[in-house]
Amino acid sequence: MTDIFAKYAGLAASFDTVGRISPRNPFGVVIERPLSATVGLIEGRETLLFGTNNYLGLSQSTAAADAAIATVRKEGVGTTGSRIANGTYALHRELERRLAETFQREHCLVFSTGYQANLGAISALAGKDDILFLDADSHASIYDGSRLSAAQVIRFRHNDPDDLSRRLARVKDHPGAKLVVVEGIYSMTGNVAPMREFADVKKEHGAWLLADEAHSFGVLGAHGRGAAELFDCEADVDFVVGTFSKSLGTVGGYCVSNHPGIELIRLCSRPYMFTASLPPEIIAATLASLTEMEARPELRTTLMENAHHLNHGLHALGLRASPHVSPVVAVTLGAVDQAIRFWNRLLECGVYVNLSLPPATPDDNPLLRCSVMAAHTPAEIDRALDAFGKVAQELGL
Ligand code: PMP
Repeated sequence: MTDIFAKYAGLAASFDTVGRISPRNPFGVVIERPLSATVGLIEGRETLLFGTNNYLGLSQSTAAADAAIATVRKEGVGTTGSRIANGTYALHRELERRLAETFQREHCLVFSTGYQANLGAISALAGKDDILFLDADSHASIYDGSRLSAAQVIRFRHNDPDDLSRRLARVKDHPGAKLVVVEGIYSMTGNVAPMREFADVKKEHGAWLLADEAHSFGVLGAHGRGAAELFDCEADVDFVVGTFSKSLGTVGGYCVSNHPGIELIRLCSRPYMFTASLPPEIIAATLASLTEMEARPELRTTLMENAHHLNHGLHALGLRASPHVSPVVAVTLGAVDQAIRFWNRLLECGVYVNLSLPPATPDDNPLLRCSVMAAHTPAEIDRALDAFGKVAQELGL
């Protein structure tokens, strides 16, 4: 029998190296119990959570929990079917209507995850005769969606509209459609896309533009609609994809647009058609979170104050923190073993962040990916900064 796992020999060797340096599996951390939005029980210790996507703290929303409980009692725990069969309830339609209203767009499709929203939208929008232009630092769901699409893929330099423009110019006579895909805030680094410039380039070249606002929805813009709202170019962004699993605190994804053709995706997008729809209690909780997000704009103000606090604090410690101020703050370290040691010591000091190692990181740099929430208190951020300072000193950084 051929060893079916032989292709993973390199991966196994890398994981063994991690195991030799790390007293615990950094990719198998168990939150024994979330105690609040900002504190979780890890290894029996109360630990500050600085590595979630729970930007507004809504995973612990009382209104969302109440809505979920009431709905589960009325409608059961799951739909047991896909959106095109028995899996569309009135609640799914209601959420689509509400999201379309929030984004001031005509159409909205709800998917079972944000991953599937990218997979489903990109694979259905781009056909084999079309060209996809992807930012080099795109999320895995964008790359996977492009593979499922069979379209030609051209990567451009991260956050570089000039590079995109040059690459579009080279294929100006291509008869198929051209779809540019960017993210509002990049999940690993916190970099914000220059959306206005990207919108100008797409107009100049007659291309379409899809923005994944997964990390920027609820975070950027006067109403929290993301980078397109912040840079006042929503009319030039043809499709917005996003997720409920970050600022809304639940799970699921969406694609909104003014183009009526998007409705056809319901009839041809495999990640939309061939998977079970979201359970009703999740939809109810998401609707409640959306209401709370819209009723409490001050959450966004606090979130950005906290983002400044963490970002400036890390810079003041002399660490290589992200240049952009956003709720995602990456600390770049020089070597993988140093990153692993740093991450372990932070956890032992009661601070959880995400450890991101090459090849899953931009430019193959090891990162400590930190994120803040509106729910963090200034004292909690100071405690995290103290831990960073202490560990940096211990490791001689
Ligand atoms: N897009 C981006 C940019 C993301 O970072 C993520 C999740 N990390 C997703 C899409 C997928 O969202 P979900 O986890 O809700 O499936």
